[in-house]
Amino acid sequence: SSEPHDPNCIFCKIIAGQIPSRKVYEDEELFGFHDIAPWAPVHFMLVPKRHIPSMAQVTPEDSALLGKIMILAPKLALEQGCRPYPQGGFRIVVNTGAEGGQEVHHLHVHVMGGPRPWLKG
Ligand code: 5GP
Ligand code: ZN
Repeated sequence: SSEPHDPNCIFCKIIAGQIPSRKVYEDEELFGFHDIAPWAPVHFMLVPKRHIPSMAQVTPEDSALLGKIMILAPKLALEQGCRPYPQGGFRIVVNTGAEGGQEVHHLHVHVMGGPRPWLKG
């Protein structure tokens, strides 16, 4: 469905260490790093190392990968300074396609939290 890496992709370059980032997590198939222009006091992204362009391309074969991201997010959110549920918590966003607000076409899960009033809607 998609090539493992795209030489023109900024997130593939971050994963490869060709562009520096503030890493929050890494394993064989996932990479986590702070957003360079945070929308919230805590804002990092989790991305598959494999170049999947967006949520529009995921298949049942990606189920375990996506599940792993969702299980990891709450743990990393606490590590990165989000307060615990329910007073604290976090928001997960996956922008998909132009009308979904996606600017970088390498699947990424935004995890955002910290004291309001950053959160709208
Ligand atoms: P999107 O709008 O595609 O969901 O979000 C892409 C995000 O990637 C944006 O929030 C943007 O700030 C972040 N971003 C873009 N380029 C870089 C970069 O070079 N380094 C880091 N750490 N984040 C980036
Ligand atoms: Zn990529």
